Amino acid sequence: MTKDTSIQYLPGVGPKRAQLLESELGIRTLEDLVHLYPFRYIDRSSIVRIADVHPDLAQVQVRATVQKVRLFAKNGAELPADQLKYNMVSRLSAIVADESGEMEMVFFKGVKWMHARLVPGSTFIFFGKPAVFGSRLNMVHPEVDAPDAGTTGVLTGVYPSTEKLKNAGITGKVMLRLMGTALQEILPVVQETLPDYILKEKGLVPLTYALRQIHFPVDQAALAKASYRLKFEELFLLQLSLLKQKYIRSRNAVGFVMNQVGQPFNDCYNALPYQLTGAQKRVIKEIREDMRSGHQMNRLLQGDVGSGKTMVAVLSALIAVGNGYQACIMAPTEVLSQQHYANVSKYLRPTGVKCALLTGTTTAARRREIHAGLLDGSIGILIGTHALIEDTVQFRALGLAIVDEQHRFGVEQRARLWNKGWGGTAPHVLVMTATPIPRTLAMTLYGDLDVSVIDEMPPGRKPITTLCVGEGKRHAMHNFIRDEIAKGRQAFIVYPLIFESEKMDYKNLELGYEEIVKAFPLPQYKVAIVHGQQNAADKAFNMDAFAAGRANILVSTTVIEVGVDVPNASVMVIESAERFGLSQLHQLRGRVGRGAERSYCILMKGTKISKESQKRLDLLCATENGFELAEEDMKMRGPGDLEGTQQSGLPISLNIASLAKDGLILSDARAYAQHILDLDPTLQEQKNAPLLMELQRDKYQSKDYSKIS
Ligand code: ADP
Ligand code: MG
Repeated sequence: MTKDTSIQYLPGVGPKRAQLLESELGIRTLEDLVHLYPFRYIDRSSIVRIADVHPDLAQVQVRATVQKVRLFAKNGAELPADQLKYNMVSRLSAIVADESGEMEMVFFKGVKWMHARLVPGSTFIFFGKPAVFGSRLNMVHPEVDAPDAGTTGVLTGVYPSTEKLKNAGITGKVMLRLMGTALQEILPVVQETLPDYILKEKGLVPLTYALRQIHFPVDQAALAKASYRLKFEELFLLQLSLLKQKYIRSRNAVGFVMNQVGQPFNDCYNALPYQLTGAQKRVIKEIREDMRSGHQMNRLLQGDVGSGKTMVAVLSALIAVGNGYQACIMAPTEVLSQQHYANVSKYLRPTGVKCALLTGTTTAARRREIHAGLLDGSIGILIGTHALIEDTVQFRALGLAIVDEQHRFGVEQRARLWNKGWGGTAPHVLVMTATPIPRTLAMTLYGDLDVSVIDEMPPGRKPITTLCVGEGKRHAMHNFIRDEIAKGRQAFIVYPLIFESEKMDYKNLELGYEEIVKAFPLPQYKVAIVHGQQNAADKAFNMDAFAAGRANILVSTTVIEVGVDVPNASVMVIESAERFGLSQLHQLRGRVGRGAERSYCILMKGTKISKESQKRLDLLCATENGFELAEEDMKMRGPGDLEGTQQSGLPISLNIASLAKDGLILSDARAYAQHILDLDPTLQEQKNAPLLMELQRDKYQSKDYSKIS
């Protein structure tokens, strides 16, 4: 057998089970099988006294002697112990005891066999999860082993499984047996994947050792070494592939050379009403270097809500214009595009550069004007929704494409921007996100991009006071909003709308709106409402009323999450806050605290919220640092669920390493991968041949990373 042999040829598998293992776990070959690692280990090294067993324990094993066995029918009636019609038996109960006490073992299946086996007076090791039923301590379907069997394996691996696999008899025990056989076949022919010198430099154990110990560890120390080696390898190869592609691209991708800063940039810069922050200046410098390097820029700009990314976008766009090119800024929503358009127009006033807004609601006549202006070059900057990537939109010379909140766009939409460059050359690309992404995730998700971070807020911002209160404080909350309105401020009230289509959620929103209108009646108060099912005109009317200060309160769904800028708003109330993720709550909170006044975020929580939800809300009250929150969010929910990752997706699914837990290994692996590429950028040296071979594998080919942005 070789590593590519189908698992169906393993003793005890066969075509049927092989089929099932493939469809359920994606395992086809022996190699696949040995790379399915236990997700936890059971410590069977100790035997617990029955007196010490309690239902909070995970799985335990006891060594006990059978006292009494009873059989029960479906209706609960006890059946005679010499029962031979086992089909009438629905439950077998065995009372077992050790010197410290007694407990019950319960079986609903395999009753006949257990009945024969559990002869009173005989001793076994019972292994399972303790529970309490009635007032009696029990275990349901424990594993039953010979009395001397318990202490053989010290740590027993537990493998991922599914209902179908269990039904087909592929239990944990069977998996262990298959794994044992597969290892016997594979280990003698396994090829070391990492070059010798890397094992030495990084102090890693060989692959064969790692594989044996990850499945059948002799002790905790061996397991730790094995798991470190496999995690390092996984993260290292992934980073190596990302960095190698980045290297190849930056060498091959020709970019428009934008040598000068240009007059428009200077005109805008000199007229700015404020000083740029140090972080803004640094980032603009990084972008400027990219744009004149001759290579195509592919840069991710991360900056918390309110950190001033728009200004960076405008100045970058003006560099393009100052060099004779055009720029576009694509935003995910109509509202956001309009807001960008309003802001950008303001900044452009001193420059004489013309910008235009193109969205789904732009009239046909206006569209024609814009198309013409783009072709003759009189429009320097185009702002809009994905309407601007339609085929009919042609630029004279697009040199820079900026994508705001890039994770809201699909890969394909973003790729279409690449094709709009002048003369077939891709434009420079700057993608911006306000979603702080944990460093480890950014390194993986955007491993082949250059990353700039605005890690400094514009001066003069007041901290936002965040509090979390229950239903009992609703009245007080209303009074608080009245006080703020009396001071001339405005308030947001946001309702969760997890699925735009969910009727229940709309019901909540509508009821909430009615309640607010009652509590804040006309003519003294004006309440606006915005949600996803309104038509564009209603939405714009309500938004404008709030933005212009005609409405005191804006009741809305999360459509306001992204980018809405109303500096006069000082209160953000979030209803059913427990239903939002941490990052999203943070984004919403960022809608206030933009003006000079003190701002507040009030998290209204439901009556029955889980411990974990409470922890999330507490964390939000404790810190305003978006990166810290993102790290925590990832620890609690895993990287897959994080805002910002759903659409782009991880470039590869990790088998053993975790972005949430293995940050240190990841940083080390990335630095080391970079070090190796610095010495041998294309991995042509003989000693790196194994690496080159690994990178040829399918999983590193599956995505065109270079177009991920
Ligand atoms: P975001 O990063 O969330 O897109 P914006 O670009 O909308 O942030 O900026 C938030 C607010 O901060 C805007 O009102 C903007 O005018 C202001 N601002 C940006 N940069 C500075 C600065 N250097 N100094 C003072 N205010 C700034
Ligand atoms: Mg913004």
